[in-house]
Amino acid sequence: MDTDQLRSRIHEDMPRVVDELSRLVAIPSIGYDGYDPANVRASAELTRDILRHAGVGADLLEIEGGHPAVFGSVPGPADRPTVLLYAHHDVQPAADPDAWTMPPFTPTVTGGRLYGRGAADDKSGIVIHAAALRAVRADGPLPCSVKVIVEGEEECSTQHLPELVRGHGDLLRSDVAVIADGGNYRTGVPTIGTSIRGATHLTVRVDVLPIAQHSGVFGGPLPDAIMALSRMLASLHDDEGELTIDGLHGFPWPGTQVPEDEFRDESRVFPEIELLGTGTIADRTLSKAAINILAFEAPRVDEVANQIVPSARAVVGLRMAPGEDYAAATDRLAAHLRAVAPWGVRVQIDTEEPGAGYIVDPTTPAYRSARAALTAAFDRKVVEMGSGGSIPLVPMLAETFPGIEVLIWGAGDHRSNFHSIDESVDIEDLERMAVAEALFLQSFEDADR
Ligand SMILES: [Zn+2]
Repeated sequence: MDTDQLRSRIHEDMPRVVDELSRLVAIPSIGYDGYDPANVRASAELTRDILRHAGVGADLLEIEGGHPAVFGSVPGPADRPTVLLYAHHDVQPAADPDAWTMPPFTPTVTGGRLYGRGAADDKSGIVIHAAALRAVRADGPLPCSVKVIVEGEEECSTQHLPELVRGHGDLLRSDVAVIADGGNYRTGVPTIGTSIRGATHLTVRVDVLPIAQHSGVFGGPLPDAIMALSRMLASLHDDEGELTIDGLHGFPWPGTQVPEDEFRDESRVFPEIELLGTGTIADRTLSKAAINILAFEAPRVDEVANQIVPSARAVVGLRMAPGEDYAAATDRLAAHLRAVAPWGVRVQIDTEEPGAGYIVDPTTPAYRSARAALTAAFDRKVVEMGSGGSIPLVPMLAETFPGIEVLIWGAGDHRSNFHSIDESVDIEDLERMAVAEALFLQSFEDADR
């Protein structure tokens, strides 16, 4: 089938694609503790149904003690490669629902974009896979075997990732992985991901007293937990905003640079705020470590009492350069926090299973076909760009299946507001990505690939 035919077939299919994505977005599939896990299950079930409608023999993949993933497959010719299509169906919390222009879980189409939590990250990946498979299969059997894995805990936990990947090695084993959880540099500018950073969270807790005490009677000699924890967190950066933890890796970013004004614009940072650290913006967002404090727990301001606060907690988020020894980096951060804890306060640190970073090999046949497919689908030159984000499954796939060819792309763009309010996806880019993926799958017809 020629490109134009495929293109028009997907174009005609778009009402259905948008409908599928809308139905997915309407489910608040937040996997974090404190949210109803039934919603994550419901989004897994809908994902399964969407894949089945695309001709994929899909089912829930239950994760002991976690949220279900969805797995499906379409067998192809035995002598052709197996392509694993990846997305995730869980989403970030809405954070502050009142700050959204429209309700986060009421999918809304306006200005050529579909708004709602997960519209881009990463429910768009699910419908891209389904649309591409429908389009290619309309002509007959696939030219390669396809497996689809849609994870249900990407945003909230890496705890069960080893079980999901290594524990299902035979099920997931593939030659190529297409990770539809990236995005385009700009709307309409096809982009292929070249790297991701590693990531982990540490929860640090400080205790000074078994119970709160009167701040008049005991205040003065006794430190409180907020003072202590604040000092520890403040010690993670120097005055210039450079990290103070010894031995974290970084390297000058060799690829496309990001102008500072563009970065400021996109982040919507207040103009008077200074940017932290040294090196180019790309160095600081793609190939150096970064730390942000993601949460702080202490008495709420409107529940204030004249008490010495006995304990406080914070979540410290660490992003690591691709290639970093993530376990060692996590240990270094924990050791730093322990070492700087003042006044003998008790410190307890819980770590997550860290996700490694990853550098995509641009010399693989899959990468070359993907670049050609993107160029054809968008009719524009492809941008190759790293990502400051993390997809912990990717390095684990690479480790579990040595030699697997990895691609990272997606329909999100600079206006998608991943993890923030008013998340959205451009519907034309969604269509172009489905075309690109369909062309990519079709490229396996070429026996010399
Ligand atoms: Zn994602």
